[in-house]
Amino acid sequence: MVQIKTVGVVGAGQMGAGIAQVAAQAGLSVLVTDVADAAIERGKGAIKDSLARLVKKGSLSEADAAAAMGRISFGTALTLHAPADLVVEAVSESEALKRKIFGELDLIVRPEAILASNTSSISITRLASATKRADRFIGMHFMNPVPVMKLVELIRGIATADATWAATKALAEKMGKTTTVSKDYPGFLANRILMPMINEAFSALMEGVGSAEDIDTTMKLGCNHPMGPLTLADFIGLDTCLAIMEVLHDGFADPRYRPCPLLRQYVDAGWLGKKSGRGVYRYGEGA
Ligand code: NAD
Repeated sequence: MVQIKTVGVVGAGQMGAGIAQVAAQAGLSVLVTDVADAAIERGKGAIKDSLARLVKKGSLSEADAAAAMGRISFGTALTLHAPADLVVEAVSESEALKRKIFGELDLIVRPEAILASNTSSISITRLASATKRADRFIGMHFMNPVPVMKLVELIRGIATADATWAATKALAEKMGKTTTVSKDYPGFLANRILMPMINEAFSALMEGVGSAEDIDTTMKLGCNHPMGPLTLADFIGLDTCLAIMEVLHDGFADPRYRPCPLLRQYVDAGWLGKKSGRGVYRYGEGA
């Protein structure tokens, strides 16, 4: 089984930064790339802030936080990933973008290295076909926020080898996570069940059945969910939610997965949730 010591992370957004942080805290060498310096600076800042919060809470020593930060290298060129044993891609939820990145990574990393995608919903089998290593390709679906959430859903494409699954499972466990396995079906397990609920909450909001606050409170207090579906959608990113609904809709060709027009309209308006300062709710200065 491939021993994973160096992990590459492509994309330094919400998920990429979290994955890099947790991998570094687990003692792995981490290589992080994004398209632009500004995105790298944002990602680096997010990791620093998150580690500082852990230090303040007393769950991490200052020395360990500094050591974790010291294990992460940042850059804008994909070639930074050449020494990686496994590269996990966490760029925006676009199949064309991910395929392009995997096609390039396939030529950059060593033949035995594993390529993994943190995609929420895009077919692992299809993404793997952008490479010549479908047997060393797997879905590694972390949950948001990565430092907090315990689960990593592993998705086996049609050609994913047992050894690839075992090495990736061992890596997730080294990062302190528990894994489940899903077949490569639209939405896998988590989002096939979660996203239709979020979409339904948007429909209830659009139809004026209840206010956003009442929808969220109903699910929080009535169904014991830790946060309401609309708050959760803002947290995930409404663009990501819409992209996942589109994958479910296309993948199953079933109208019950039709994305709610209000969700689409919010995304068209640039109201992407917490990350853009406004989604269903407002954040930051306009809150
Ligand atoms: P995000 O928008 O916060 O980050 C995406 C990052 O990708 C940005 O920093 C962007 O600059 C970068 N990027 C875009 N094009 C790139 C390129 N060509 N090369 C390198 N970097 C590039 O998005 P996110 O929420 O971190 O989501 C990333 C992935 O993780 C998506 O596939 C999403 O479906 C998945 N995911 C998201 C969540 C969630 O709750 N947000 C949970 C699980 C999985």
